[in-house]
Amino acid sequence: MMLDPFSLSISTVADTLNSNIDCGLNEREIKLRLKTYGKNEIAANQTKSRWKILFDQFKDPIIFILAIAAGLTFLFNEDLPETIAIITVILITITIGFIMELQGIRSLEALRKMGFIESTVLRDGKIKTIKASLLVPGDVLLIEAGDVVSADARLITAENLMVKEASLTGESRAVEKRVNSLPVNTVLSDRKNMVFKGTTVEQGSAKAIVVATGTNTELGKIQKMGGDVEEQRTPLEKKLNALSKWLIWLTLIFGILIVFTGYLRGLDMLLIIETAVALAVAAIPEGLPVVATIALARGMLKLSKRQVIIKKMEGVETLGATNIICTDKTGTLTEDKMQVHTLVFEDEILKEIQNNSPTQLDDVKHSQAFCALMMTSILCNNVVLNTEQLKGDSIEIALVQFAEKLHFDLNKIKENNPEKTEIPFNTSSKLMATLNKNDDGFTVYAKGAFESIVNYCDTILNDEKPQEFKNKREWLSHVSDMASQGLRVLAFAYKHQETEPKKDDLLSHLTFIGVIGFLDPAREDVKSTINVYKEAGIKVVMMTGDHPGTAKKIAEEIGLLPKNAASNCIIHGNELQFEGQASPTAHKNLLDASVFARVTPEQKLKLVTFYQENENVVGMFGDGINDIPALRKADIGIAMGIRGTQAAREAADIILKNDKFTTMELAISQGRAVFDHIRQFVVYLLSCNLAEVVSVGLAALLNLPAPLLPLQILFLNLVTDIFPALALGMGKGEVDIMKRPPRKANEPIMGRKRWASTIIYGLSITVAVVGITAYAYFSLQLSSVIINNMAFYTLVLAQLFNVFNMAESKVSFFNNEVIKNPWVWSAIALSLIITVSAYYISPISEALFLTKLTLEQIGWVVIFALGSLALSQIIKRLGGTF
Ligand code: ATP
Repeated sequence: MMLDPFSLSISTVADTLNSNIDCGLNEREIKLRLKTYGKNEIAANQTKSRWKILFDQFKDPIIFILAIAAGLTFLFNEDLPETIAIITVILITITIGFIMELQGIRSLEALRKMGFIESTVLRDGKIKTIKASLLVPGDVLLIEAGDVVSADARLITAENLMVKEASLTGESRAVEKRVNSLPVNTVLSDRKNMVFKGTTVEQGSAKAIVVATGTNTELGKIQKMGGDVEEQRTPLEKKLNALSKWLIWLTLIFGILIVFTGYLRGLDMLLIIETAVALAVAAIPEGLPVVATIALARGMLKLSKRQVIIKKMEGVETLGATNIICTDKTGTLTEDKMQVHTLVFEDEILKEIQNNSPTQLDDVKHSQAFCALMMTSILCNNVVLNTEQLKGDSIEIALVQFAEKLHFDLNKIKENNPEKTEIPFNTSSKLMATLNKNDDGFTVYAKGAFESIVNYCDTILNDEKPQEFKNKREWLSHVSDMASQGLRVLAFAYKHQETEPKKDDLLSHLTFIGVIGFLDPAREDVKSTINVYKEAGIKVVMMTGDHPGTAKKIAEEIGLLPKNAASNCIIHGNELQFEGQASPTAHKNLLDASVFARVTPEQKLKLVTFYQENENVVGMFGDGINDIPALRKADIGIAMGIRGTQAAREAADIILKNDKFTTMELAISQGRAVFDHIRQFVVYLLSCNLAEVVSVGLAALLNLPAPLLPLQILFLNLVTDIFPALALGMGKGEVDIMKRPPRKANEPIMGRKRWASTIIYGLSITVAVVGITAYAYFSLQLSSVIINNMAFYTLVLAQLFNVFNMAESKVSFFNNEVIKNPWVWSAIALSLIITVSAYYISPISEALFLTKLTLEQIGWVVIFALGSLALSQIIKRLGGTF
């Protein structure tokens, strides 16, 4: 590792690192360095170790309860086989938990490996894009606005470079960077000639040489000091854990009650303890949190195959509740393939330039206004020329292409007019300007939104000379006309003087040149997606920095507004008021509006907050540095994989790899399906457990013969319940999933209706189990072992059939998501095979006290089990539950 690179000259740094600042490292050297220094990753990105996963399984309260059960069985019963059986169950529980958690973590690792953080480097003299994890010391890094810096590096060149280092220094304002060397004792926050891993480039561009990677970076050191990052649980996992804990307490109280009443009634202590243990085991839904985690992780993996990367597991859960989607316009709702369409300067309006031949410009080609327009287009422009594919802002690319079409020699013009300084484009000021030096002095070239530019202009170029700018209103109406055709409009201005103007004075006294309208058609597929959202109760809100006219036209084309909508449907940034909250009507208008134009990034953030305060769950599209606060604030931040800046992708919760607005629809429907499934198996597992608790409790209270044994119940919970629950999580989702409103954000997993369903299904199963016990005892007069076995098998079958109760009550029993789910059928088959095998494997059958049943007895088991399904279905359909 290099010591104090900020105090050394660039050449010394490069020499020490054995690198070349003009062509970077070569492949052979990179391989060697990767071996020496390791990958450019830090601890927080590394996943939980296998040992820790295993160790964590022992922390589960269920394991404690089982251990106590094993101890009690041994102490009171001196029954070694049963104690061993319970210990085996503990081991099985731990193994299942371990395997399932490992599977969840593997899915997350697979997602991480897709590596969406990339870096641009100079290697072997060529510009390459590589995974950031493969950076090595000595690499020459190229960075630009919107990038997240991937390693610590010493700057070689820097142009207008401003970097936000809040993650490192806590300073929220961007810091200006320079290349000159600094004294050895310079503190971290003052090391202006360095860029650090994890910081964000807000403006400008730079070339830098990597001096530290991975844990050797400043960020790595901080994280090492902080120790292991505490593992975060999703809100859903927390809710489920809370539910499990609640059930455990309930069971303990119930258990103590049974022991106490049993003791008072003078029952055999052994029997009492046995019942209490059985009850404790019956009440706890062992598989619940794990099955939920698996469902979420599977949802994530499934979406990743369809180009949607979900970075945090809770994202899947939030998606299902999203009811407002805020989106920008350019590139998300439109194609972002700009073309120059209309030129307006002096008295000339030249329309549909792209469709006609450039010869239509012959008459005006030599006018001063047209030349000034073209010079501004070429010089006030940051597109990188001479590359295979033009890189940069699409509006600027359109200007370059237009100039090339008219045979302007762009390189020569740039060479003869070197740029001295630049006011970069920013979404708040909505303009950009450059100061260029030429033979006879200095020229300022400016372009931007009409309202922004016109404020600085007091003259207009007319009849080959600047004249007083009197007809601003007339121009405003030209611009509105163009915008109402859906064109994106840019205004142009300049000023020339012999002496160099001061940086603060660049924009004063400009001469207006004219405007250019760009065509950016709406995306074809957006309209149908917006209709799907409408049906799904999700409101789409367009928040654009563009002109209200352009916004309105595009909104009409994609069906966000009706055709020829009144212009007051659109809220202008100037009209937005949040502080001291406006009148109730204004409040309502704000909630009802679906198009906001000329809004700044700060206003976008305020709008997101406003929606959230009014109990909405907000998804937000964003791609620029300025969108980051709103992306973070939104419940779901969404960034585009191709077009979005790295910083936006870092801040977002979801990345759409294919940049398509329409893919969000898939993500939302998947999010809804996953939540539905989680609810289904919570109801399923709880109703099964309820059946067990009530059956055991009733048997104890009514002094019934042959109650269910603890090991039988454990077998049920671990073998027969888990597979159908997992299978429910594999379902496709109901067909009408996008035809119903989103669930409310604060809606609990289990509402009143679902508790009612759980009780109905649980009691139906209990009726069957208690029913067969009573029938076998009173009517068939069978032995207690046979009665116990018949009750046990009835419980197994009734619980398996219970899975079919999980479909919604409004769909047909024979045609629904659950019955059509092949995983459910496989799970039932698997559970049955395991149950039958248990009978044939003698140690298991002995531990479970299984004995041979006659065909008639099996027939009764099937009838009673089917009866429980029929009973639940009748009550459910009559009562309209779930
Ligand atoms: P959105 O992407 O949110 O739909 P937008 O891209 O139209 O909106 P901004 O990027 O904030 O919004 O642009 C606002 C205005 O700034 C544009 O309408 C245009 O007039 C002007 N503008 C856009 N890009 C540039 C640029 N590269 N240089 C100068 N002005 C620009």
